[in-house]
This record gives sequence, structure tokens and C-alpha cells, in this order.
Amino acid sequence: MSIRKLSDTSFQNKKVLLRCDLNVPLKNGVITDDGRIVASLSTIRKLLDANCSIVIIAHLGRPKGERKPELSLRPIAARLQELSGVEVIFSDIAPDLAEKARNLKPKQIMLIENIRYEAAETSKDDTERMKLATELAKCADLYVGDGFGAVHRKHASVYELAKLLPSFAGDLVVNEVEVLQKLTTNPTRPYGVILGGAKVSDKIGVISNLLNKVDLIAIGGGMVFTFLAAKGMKIGKSLVENDLVPEVKQLLKRAEELGVKLVLPVDIVVAHEFDANSAPTIVDCSEIPDDQMGLDIGPKSARNFADEIKSCKTVFWNGPMGVFEFSNFSNGTKVVAQALTEVSGMTVVGGGDSAAAVRQLGFADSKFGYISTGGGASLEYLEGKELPGLVALS
Ligand code: AMP
Repeated sequence: MSIRKLSDTSFQNKKVLLRCDLNVPLKNGVITDDGRIVASLSTIRKLLDANCSIVIIAHLGRPKGERKPELSLRPIAARLQELSGVEVIFSDIAPDLAEKARNLKPKQIMLIENIRYEAAETSKDDTERMKLATELAKCADLYVGDGFGAVHRKHASVYELAKLLPSFAGDLVVNEVEVLQKLTTNPTRPYGVILGGAKVSDKIGVISNLLNKVDLIAIGGGMVFTFLAAKGMKIGKSLVENDLVPEVKQLLKRAEELGVKLVLPVDIVVAHEFDANSAPTIVDCSEIPDDQMGLDIGPKSARNFADEIKSCKTVFWNGPMGVFEFSNFSNGTKVVAQALTEVSGMTVVGGGDSAAAVRQLGFADSKFGYISTGGGASLEYLEGKELPGLVALS
């Protein structure tokens, strides 16, 4: 599958609809990590330099068709203006949207309010999505898909809209795909994947598909307790998805049959409550007390994970090893991040959360081979799935 790039067309002086991924973490209305906005700047600047007017479409969170004020893109418009140095006009989706868009002058930017306020954006009904896309298409002559974090979604502004207008991938999407292609075609071995984060259900598909492709999978985070449960261990009050235990048992069996090294923690940092101030205790992973929960991998496990990572020549990492937001439970994630910076090969950190975690823990982006803006999207790419947003640009 080869995607059409901006360099394949002449976009000088065009009116452009640009789909970005500006889905940044916010705390009390304040952006805590603007990585995705920064990553979008390259394409924005390129279009401005070419005298284009730009209408940006983006989403924030999952408002599910409701106008949730805490998910407004207004703070993002302000940050984008600051970072780009160009005024960002903000607009709702209103009947006069196309007219406003058409009246933009060259080098002007307009950001449309959270596209997911429109139920049609994420609708399962193709006709609904096409109706919204048709309205949006009136705003411009050209579509540029640069929201990598959303390319795995068959959404109106990602898929249908790209089909309605001449469409091209922006620089960010091109870079992301190039990196992921390297991981999927002949990665230098050993190839290790480190997975963490909250839920197994989000990642069980990727683990299953990756078993045929990798040499090593290390698992931490909240999802590891379903693995420990599958191995018959008591996991106390830790996060668990009991309905997935049979599937995880199958995975463990397949990994063994395929000779893939599946690395699990040997010790766990537990606490009584899911709270930054709950006292941490280190226990063996077979001795998690009934009244406590695991909130990080233990120091021995972190060292093991680091050694395994450093023995690899290609590493992809998605998902924190523990509740890194609480300093008492951030050590596992920190040690894994540090190990990645010491790999003499290709390292990719995948996903908004993981990227935010490494930055919050004080690691510079430049320490890693590549930091992907898309968690779900990069995982689905590695799984070998077709991503609607890329299909539409191919
Ligand atoms: P995800 O979006 O699936 O990558 O999950 C990221 C979240 O998982 C982070 O906010 C972490 O705080 C959380 N997390 C990591 N480890 C644990 C754990 N042991 N228990 C509960 N939550 C966790």
C-alpha cells in the first residue's frame, strides 16, 4: 500500500482541509503535554509557506456526539496559535462554516471545534458519516490527512472526507508510516515489544498477532495482572479482566510453542489504595496480599525488563509499566524508558500516553529513535490491520 504524499501534488495557494490529531492530555483545562500539537506543526508550516489557507479538523476525547465543554478545542487553539505564531480563528460547526472557510485568506488558519461533538463523525452508519463529510468537503479544494492517532478509525473526517476530495498524507503520517514499515519489514533481531497500560482487552489482539513476528514480549502495567491470574496467582485488588483469563492462557501456551520469550514481572509494588499517597510495598508476584493492589512492577522486574530490552536490536514500547502519574509507582516506567535510551538499535515509543509518560519522567524526545503520536493506530499497524485513514489516502 503506498500513500499519496503532499510532495506528489502542487498545493500552492490551495484551500486545504487538514485533519490533525490534537488530542492532547488536559488537566483542569490546562494542556499537560503538547507533543501532538508540536508534531502537527511541520505540515501546517509547509502549507502556510505554500500560501494555503488551512481549515483544521481535530477531536478531543470521546464526547460521543455531546457538546461537553471540558472537551472543547479552545485551549488547543490558543496553544496552536502560540506555537505556530499565526492567529488561529476558532469556529463551531455552523451552517456558515463553508462560507467562513472559503473566505479565509492565504496563510490563515481556522480550527473547527471538536469534530466528535457531531455524532455523525463516529457514527456506525455510513450514510450519516458521508453526510457530514459532504458538508465539510465544501470548505476546501484539497484534503490533507495528518492525524496519525486517528487513522485507525473509520470516521467521517478521517475516511469519507479523504475520499471526497483530492487527498494526500501530511508529513507526520508519512513519517509515522515509514517508521512502522521498518518495524514490520525485516526488523533487526532480536526484536522486542514492551507492553503496559491499563487494559489487556485493548492489547490482546496485538499480542496475539505479534507472537509470530517478535522474539520477545515483556508485559507490565495494569494488564499484567490478568496474566498473573492466568498463571494461577492471587492478585489481590489489582486491575483484572477475568473474562480474558482463558484467552491469556492460550497466549501463554502459544508463546511457549513458538519459542517467543514472554517476560512477566517477578515482583510487584503494591498499595492499599489507588492513591498517590498510599504506602508502597514490594512483594514477590506470587505474594500479592488480598487487600492490596499492584500499581507498578517491582525493582527486580524492572532490572530484568531493562536487561531484556538492552539485548534487543529493535524495540517497540507502548504503555506505562505502572501508575507513572504517582511518583511512588513510576519506577518501572522510568527504568524501562532509561533502558530504551541505551539500546543500540531502533527504538520506538508508541502512543500519546507513553510519550507523555517519558516526557513527564524527564526524558527528552531525542533520547528515543522515534516517538509515535498514535498508540492505538501504531498497535493496529503492527498487528497488520488495514487502517481506514491510510486506505483512503492510498
Ligand atoms: P493505556 O491508556 O491503556 O496505555 O493505560 C495507561 C494508564 O494505565 C496510565 O494512566 C496508568 O496510570 C495506568 N496503569 C498502569 N499500570 C497500572 C496498574 N498497575 N493499575 C492501574 N492502572 C495502571
